[in-house]
Amino acid sequence: MNRPILASIHIDAFRHNLNRVRELAPESKIWAVVKSGAYGHTFEAALKGLASTDGFALLNMQNAQRLRDACWQGRILLLEGLFHENEMSLAEKLSCDLVVHCEMQVQWLEKYVAHKPFNIFLKMNTGMNRLGLKPEAYRTAFHRLHAAGNKMHHMTHFANADQVDRLPTVGSQLELFNDTIEGLEAPTSLANSAAILWHRNALGDWVRPGIMLYGASPTGLFADIKNSHLKAVMQLESEIIDIQVLDKGDRVGYGGRFEAPETMRIGIVACGYADGYPRHAKDGTPVWVSGGTQDGGVVCPIVGRVSMDMLSIDLRNAPDAKIGSTVELWGDKVPVDDVAQMSDTIGYELLCAVAPRVPVVVK
Ligand SMILES: *Cc1c(COP(=O)(O)O)cnc(C)c1O
Repeated sequence: MNRPILASIHIDAFRHNLNRVRELAPESKIWAVVKSGAYGHTFEAALKGLASTDGFALLNMQNAQRLRDACWQGRILLLEGLFHENEMSLAEKLSCDLVVHCEMQVQWLEKYVAHKPFNIFLKMNTGMNRLGLKPEAYRTAFHRLHAAGNKMHHMTHFANADQVDRLPTVGSQLELFNDTIEGLEAPTSLANSAAILWHRNALGDWVRPGIMLYGASPTGLFADIKNSHLKAVMQLESEIIDIQVLDKGDRVGYGGRFEAPETMRIGIVACGYADGYPRHAKDGTPVWVSGGTQDGGVVCPIVGRVSMDMLSIDLRNAPDAKIGSTVELWGDKVPVDDVAQMSDTIGYELLCAVAPRVPVVVK
């Protein structure tokens, strides 16, 4: 038998979430954002579950090549454009759409003798101050690339679509964007998941959902998407591999962080930080344990520090739990956002960090 840990990727949940994006943005085309190995869900699964998207957006040429090798014939957007000038010809060969965010990339395109026009998503810095051209430089670059025969699109990225009253606001970024593109006719791309969910005035012609396709929350809080009809795509599961019976006052794990308040059973689960489970998970972080109840299982809290290959859980809620009981670390019963919240991070980070040693099955 293999070590029991497993990440299952649910294709029906991918399809469901993509349909949700279509419902929320019926007039827009969709770039399904699959950077970081489809947020840890694998390209293979994303290609299958998100096959009806209009295009995939990702970071580098190797992954664009992988999608083409897997016979993806739709559009591919390189979200940060090219990293080196010498990637121009491969980008053309793979028919990649390019983000252009800086003057250097504009020059590479001007120098390159293209055989057909590129689809360019020219990126404007409207206040996030990460990538993008400021308004004046933006208009100049637009004219130059347009004159060189490329098919132009306008793009920007929101810093706070998941929060109210933080600066810069979606409203302020949107206003600057609209003012700057005045008179420059081209399709637009603005919205990440948070904007698709909560700023429907800022969708544009191409939306760019990432995290919502995977069924997790842009804010990091599950409560914020509870009523948005999204489904968790990844289910991380393992099993109880041993049970300890503690006396009152006994302590659990490295550092002895948890002290038993009474005689109790502790389940040892084959999942640790080397699998991508957050080491910073506090006592009380939920897992779901199969067995016993009508729902098929119960939620139990983790107790004691997470170690490299194991974590321990309080089984006082789960009298039926035994060695071999299934434990869901996150999935449709335990939102990844709830684990993230108890670990001072966001679901994005946990999903992307599932370790290569965890086997993945596409279901
Ligand atoms: C990652 C990314 C997205 C997707 O963001 P989510 O919050 O996951 O929806 C959209 N646009 C750009 C430019 C990105 O880098």
